[in-house]
Amino acid sequence: MTHAKSHLPSIWLASFGSKAEFDTRAAELSAQLEVISAMDDRMLQSRHAFEIKAWCAACSAVTPMRVTWHYCGTNPAGSVHPAWTETCACNRCGLNSRMRALIDFLTSQLNTPTSARIYIAEQTTVSFSVFQKLFADVTGSEYLGPDYKPGEIATGFKNHGHVRHEDLSRLSFADGSFDLVLTQDVFEHVPAYAKTFSECARVLKPGGALVFTVPFFYDQAKTGIRATVDAQGTIQHILPPEFHGNPVSNEGSLCFQNFGWDLLETLQAAGFTQPKANLYWGPWAGHMGVPFFVFSAHRAALN
Ligand SMILES: [Zn+2]
Repeated sequence: MTHAKSHLPSIWLASFGSKAEFDTRAAELSAQLEVISAMDDRMLQSRHAFEIKAWCAACSAVTPMRVTWHYCGTNPAGSVHPAWTETCACNRCGLNSRMRALIDFLTSQLNTPTSARIYIAEQTTVSFSVFQKLFADVTGSEYLGPDYKPGEIATGFKNHGHVRHEDLSRLSFADGSFDLVLTQDVFEHVPAYAKTFSECARVLKPGGALVFTVPFFYDQAKTGIRATVDAQGTIQHILPPEFHGNPVSNEGSLCFQNFGWDLLETLQAAGFTQPKANLYWGPWAGHMGVPFFVFSAHRAALN
């Protein structure tokens, strides 16, 4: 069984396999970006949170969505934009634009059956409960720290009941356990991210898919390293430290890298085929950010 599809057009626009492929289309985008900037500047005049109605891929319905100005920023031309990927949250399910795009990709592009075996690297989030409603076989986990063993179940962790600990660089799961591995804004917090890609490939069935979001710098060919960890386990900062919200830690998570297009080559080297950056934009589904991508790659069939 698969999920009911929208009769509205999908807000998936295109998929790109390299920066060169994206750049040939970037000229078309620049005109759109001017329109988006003008719209965002008009909205800024109120400086108030507001609601729009749009299609939610998780609720399979048109729902009210709330736009706030948290994390808003300016572009080089001086236009001010809401952090569109992080806002426009559906009032019904609570998912923001970025999380709804990932669900749209699973249901409308991959046609994921409801029975798919899914591992998602989060467990204490709103997203995780939505995944549990949409799919029958979902395993979640959080990274709880170096004192826990992979696969260990922590009880009563920060009032979250039973939480499974997993480290993406050494998962406790057997080879070929899952049809889908999902992460949302996790890989930028892992210093040895290439190793985590290999580990995700290992636990996927041949032909299974890794689908994820990360903050993506689409004007960069190469990933920019912000920090590394040396042999003694000490963090070395190359750029000023940047921390993002973490559901199981008040300190937040350090961002180790700003991903560029070589991310797709790193996925290929880790045993994936057809790595793609899937472009999302469309007001009718509440996706209004500057080019925003959901990444996908399939585990190569075994030789
Ligand atoms: Zn919703």
